[in-house]
Formats: sequence, C-alpha cells, structure tokens
Amino acid sequence: MTDQSTEALRIEAMRLALCQKMDEAEEKAIKSLAGYKFYMFGYWAAAWVKYNQLAKEMGVIEKNRPSPFAEFVNVAKARTETAARKVILREMLESKKGHGAYIEIKGDPLCEREGNVYGLMSKLNVTCGHESVDSANRTKRKLERHSGKDTVRVVEGPCPAYVADLAARGDQTDD
Ligand SMILES: [Zn+2]
Repeated sequence: MTDQSTEALRIEAMRLALCQKMDEAEEKAIKSLAGYKFYMFGYWAAAWVKYNQLAKEMGVIEKNRPSPFAEFVNVAKARTETAARKVILREMLESKKGHGAYIEIKGDPLCEREGNVYGLMSKLNVTCGHESVDSANRTKRKLERHSGKDTVRVVEGPCPAYVADLAARGDQTDD
C-alpha cells in the first residue's frame, strides 16, 4: 500500500471515530434532557460541540456539522425575545421616559390611520411616537401644514396603538 492511501485510510478512520463519538454525545445529551438531567445535557452537548470543533481542526471534516441542538436553542431564543418585549412594555407603562408623546389626528393615533387614511408618515418622514413633547410638537407643525390646524394633537405618554401591538405580539409567541 502507498503512503498516500495509508494516510487516507488513517483520516477516514479518525473521521468515523469522531462521528461515532458525536452521535453518542448527541444521543446522551437528548436522553438527559428528556429526563430533566440538565447537568448531563450540558456535559454531552458541550462534548458534541468539542468533537465537532476537533474534527474540523484536524481536517477530517470539511465544515462543522449543523448542531443537533438548534431546535432547543431556537425555542429558548423565542422565549427570551418574548420576555424582552414584556420588559420593554412594562417599562413603558411604568415610566413614560423614552415614550414621551405621540401624535393624534382627529382623535386617533397617527400610526393607526397611516395606511388607510393619510400616508403622511412616509410622505413627510415623521413618526407617531416621540421621545419628548418638544419633538412631537415639531412633527405636529409639519403635519398641520398638510391636514389643517385643528386636527392634529400632541398627547403625552406612549401611543396606545403601539402598546397594543407590542402586547399582541408578546402574547402570540407565548403559545
Ligand atoms: Zn402610534
């Protein structure tokens, strides 16, 4: 046998050995998780990652194998995002800081009427919610040039349409 084919066989043997180790680690990790053995899940999941890195570094695989734990990670990510949204919502409702004011046109939040009635937000490049009353007043003056003086109002606090939308999105991902 030539040196070259011996080397190829050696690499193939290593690849098989590492892949077998990874399969075992994956199986043990998932079995642990299924049994609420979180420490063991962490141990085997980390082992899998280590074998994957090793196989890549040794050049026995061309690119890392996709993680068999991605599904679980995605569930956790979705939960984290929902939690983050709820924190923002709570902060908004508890303190008006950062959500100082919003614009109302004929009694409705500007953003609520945007699509079907006015289209002014994109046309004038303005927003409904504002950090401060001052900033909302600047937008109010811009809008008044288009829709008349008596129709535009600045209201303190977060826009109720925005808050409702945020809450609805938070609830959806809870399912
Ligand atoms: Zn709004």
